[in-house]
Amino acid sequence: MATLVFLEDHEGELVKGSLGVLSKASQLGGDVAAVIPGSGVAALAAGAGRYGAAKVYVADDPALAAPLPQPRVDVLAGLVRDRGFDTVLFGASVLSADVAAGLAARLGAGLNWDLVDLELRDGQLVGKRPALQDSVFVEVGWRGEPRLALVRSGTFEPVETGGEAEVEEVAVELEDFSTMAVMVERAHAESEGPSIEDAEVIVAGGRGLGEPAKFALLEELAKALGGAVAATRAVVDAGWYPYATQVGQTGKTVSPRLYLACGISGAIQHKVGMQASSTIVAINKDPNAPIFEYADVAVVGDLHEIVPKLTELVRERKG
Ligand SMILES: Cc1cc2nc3c(=O)[nH]c(=O)nc-3n(C[C@H](O)[C@H](O)[C@H](O)COP(=O)(O)OP(=O)(O)OC[C@H]3O[C@@H](n4cnc5c(N)ncnc54)[C@H](O)[C@@H]3O)c2cc1C
Repeated sequence: MATLVFLEDHEGELVKGSLGVLSKASQLGGDVAAVIPGSGVAALAAGAGRYGAAKVYVADDPALAAPLPQPRVDVLAGLVRDRGFDTVLFGASVLSADVAAGLAARLGAGLNWDLVDLELRDGQLVGKRPALQDSVFVEVGWRGEPRLALVRSGTFEPVETGGEAEVEEVAVELEDFSTMAVMVERAHAESEGPSIEDAEVIVAGGRGLGEPAKFALLEELAKALGGAVAATRAVVDAGWYPYATQVGQTGKTVSPRLYLACGISGAIQHKVGMQASSTIVAINKDPNAPIFEYADVAVVGDLHEIVPKLTELVRERKG
């Protein structure tokens, strides 16, 4: 297998999800290379070696400064054609999903998306993806090569192996049609603390909070624990908290060390986004809430009483 992994950069760092996919590719074996298309990204190449890339292609060009897909498709399509990669892997993000789809169209290749696992069986690459609203898993394959795969965010953890990569700069030659889209404006929401994708601790809230203002209780606890606040779709749809914090089937997939679910019933669509958390603690006043079926620690009670006390205890303990 000759695998190329698309590495995405954000604010001077390689995105964790794409490094996780690189680690998985390295565990699967074969020739593993990575590509970093962007502007001012050459310094990031060495980092990719530590996560299992034997070779890193750097496409460093001001024309790749904006996070637009088509110029990146040009870079990847050139590499696949010239270097004979049979597999191209992506960690899901808004940009990488566009690049993967564009590359599939350009090469006439098959793309399996939303994968939660990859394995080699009798030399064949087999993907696993959830179906029927995440209630079952199905195995998927490819009819031809190159095989393209987009992996659900948060699926694979980056694993440092300490290796060193050979770095090769590649010339950036763009198609005329690839430069027609231009970035008009970029904006980002200001927030304190880690994002839910990166946080080791997540304090998540659902409809049991009763009203949007009560998210302040969770923010205090998350701050004390050095974590991030997440939400269910029910409260995001109600406009109580931003969509960027939604965990679940139609939100983000997270895998923190601790997931503290407050006033969340634990619907299957929520579960699929957080079930990979190392420890799940649930606070719910209903002893029959579905979340207790898969929580490691079940606290039956009123979150409005428990959460402020918990925050106080954490602060005391931290001195
Ligand atoms: C196609 C599809 C996709 C979906 N995608 C997602 C998704 O990505 N993410 C997601 O989260 N959901 C998703 N949903 C919605 C999901 O089915 C649930 O409706 C939703 O997760 C419920 O949110 P909740 O737990 O906040 O609310 P509820 O189900 O209303 O649960 C509130 C809980 O709070 C408890 N509670 C109430 N008061 C207190 C209190 N004072 N103290 C402690 N506990 C209290 C209650 O006992 C209850 O268990 C999706 C649904 C569909 C159909």
